[in-house]
Amino acid sequence: MLSIKNLNKTYANGVHATNNVNLEIPNGLFGLLGPNGAGKSSLMRTIATLQEPDSGTIHFNGLDVLQNKEELRRQLGYLPQDFGVYPKVSAEDLLNHFAVLKGITNKADRKQSVEGLLRQTNLWEARKRALGTYSGGMRQRFGIAQALLGSPKLVIVDEPTAGLDPDERNRFLNLLAEIGEQVVVILSTHIVEDVTDLCPRMAMIAKGQVLVQGEPQAAIDML
Ligand code: ADP
Ligand code: ADP
Repeated sequence: MLSIKNLNKTYANGVHATNNVNLEIPNGLFGLLGPNGAGKSSLMRTIATLQEPDSGTIHFNGLDVLQNKEELRRQLGYLPQDFGVYPKVSAEDLLNHFAVLKGITNKADRKQSVEGLLRQTNLWEARKRALGTYSGGMRQRFGIAQALLGSPKLVIVDEPTAGLDPDERNRFLNLLAEIGEQVVVILSTHIVEDVTDLCPRMAMIAKGQVLVQGEPQAAIDML
């Protein structure tokens, strides 16, 4: 459970990107729905401890996140909106490399974990291919594999379905739903169907404020 209370963030240019946000996010896939500029990325970067809020608290399974950033980062898998890939490196090699950086130093553990993630994301057959040859959907699935290294308990995925074709989008959302059976997964999106199709719970955000939260249909009916 992730619990956010009275969270605020105003940028130096005066934009109040996070405006007194209160959210209760249980285990499972949670949809954060809002138009461009609503403050989704700002909120996710703050939860991921990549930027400081001006005020408010964030607790993850009882952990005071803002006072324990290193501990939170150990439990976090974060897939930013425009993550870069190294086009000439294979998925398998890059995943191995990130696994080392994540501290999975035992070779047998690393092999098992990398193979498991490549299979889970359906990239096993394509593991030797250079990432530059991957389609948009494959790249996003690679991003998820990378975010899942080290078995995070909190997974944050920022606008992952933008630019995916319908098949890839479904495949990707199903993968997130499967991951959400074990841990907290927060999916930010501007696409209504992303949350109505698969998220048991959601919040709608605009101009930095949470408008509604709850089960998708009930939340949308409340607007
Ligand atoms: P800092 O917090 O170090 O001052 P900046 O505010 O310059 O950093 O920018 C941090 C990131 O946010 C950069 O990637 C920048 O491109 C992006 N950014 C800056 N201003 C805006 C804006 N108005 N809208 C969206 N992204 C922005
Ligand atoms: P979303 O992810 O929903 O598109 P963002 O969190 O990126 O929303 O942006 C929310 C608002 O904050 C926007 O008005 C954006 O221009 C502004 N913004 C985002 N990052 C920065 C930044 N680093 N500096 C200044 N303004 C920013």
